Parts: sequence; C-alpha cells; structure tokens
Amino acid sequence: MIQKIKQNIWQFTFQSFGSSVYLIKLNKNILIDTGSSSNKNELISSLRELNLPPSEINIIILTHNHWDHTGNTDLFENAKVYGSKKDFKNEKILEIDELNIPEFKIIHTPGHSKGSFCILYEEVLFSGDTIFHHGGIGRMDLPGGSEQDMKNSLEILQKLNIKF
Ligand SMILES: [Zn+2]
Repeated sequence: MIQKIKQNIWQFTFQSFGSSVYLIKLNKNILIDTGSSSNKNELISSLRELNLPPSEINIIILTHNHWDHTGNTDLFENAKVYGSKKDFKNEKILEIDELNIPEFKIIHTPGHSKGSFCILYEEVLFSGDTIFHHGGIGRMDLPGGSEQDMKNSLEILQKLNIKF
C-alpha cells in the first residue's frame, strides 16, 4: 500500500512481515530501508505506480542492520547504500556520517542495535525500530541491543520538535 505523507514523501507498507519503506524525492530519489525480501514484488509494483524503476533509485539509507529492513537492497543496482559501520561490516555500505544531504539530520540512537539511527527531515522523523508511531519502542534483547543506550537515545529524541 502506498501512502503519500507529504509533497515529496511516500510510505510503502506490505502484506507480509517487514519494515515500511519510505521514498523521498529531493534532487535525488532516496529510499529509507528496503523491507523484507518477501515483500520484493510489492515494493517493485509500488515504485512502478510512481513511475520509478528500481534503477532510478539513487540513494538507500538503512536505519539498521536487520533483515526485515534490508531485504531488497540488492534490487537497486545504481544506488549508493548508507548505514552505520557499527551495524554493517560489508564494505559496500557507506558510512552514514558521510551522507551529504544537508536537508537530513542524522541522529544516532543506539539501543535497538549498536548502529541504529534516526533521520530528521523537516519535521518528519524516520525512526527505524527505535520508536514506533503508536508509542512503542524497539526490542533491546537482540544482538547489539542495550537498555541503557536506548534510554539515552530516547532522551535525545524527546528534545526534538517532531511529528511522527
Ligand atoms: Zn530491527
């Protein structure tokens, strides 16, 4: 399902388990997370509805290294892929701190995983699995998770002026 969040932001949600995927159109076509591989065909058809073949995605940002957020990354052959080196050891993943998009503020929020971060774009927060719009927070019992880190990260997020 496609939901338009703002003029240049779309959210894709899927039938089976997997993260949402967000498309942001700036001067480049940017995806935040790629969902789980079981949602591959739905992701392709959602992009097709917006007249975007996978080859026209320029940048992918992975909020953290869990399979339900990264499953379709290989589909986007022309995209540069950014994530935190604290989560990703794969050398093809570029360090998120080197992403040069001035409109995006990267907020490191370890807790769900060591390399989890959120992206603030205008007043919209893309929060990965750190927090959810219904008010919950991400699991802390997976590898790299930490309750103390999560507590610190939530304090940082509370100071922001955001809508979900
Ligand atoms: Zn996760």
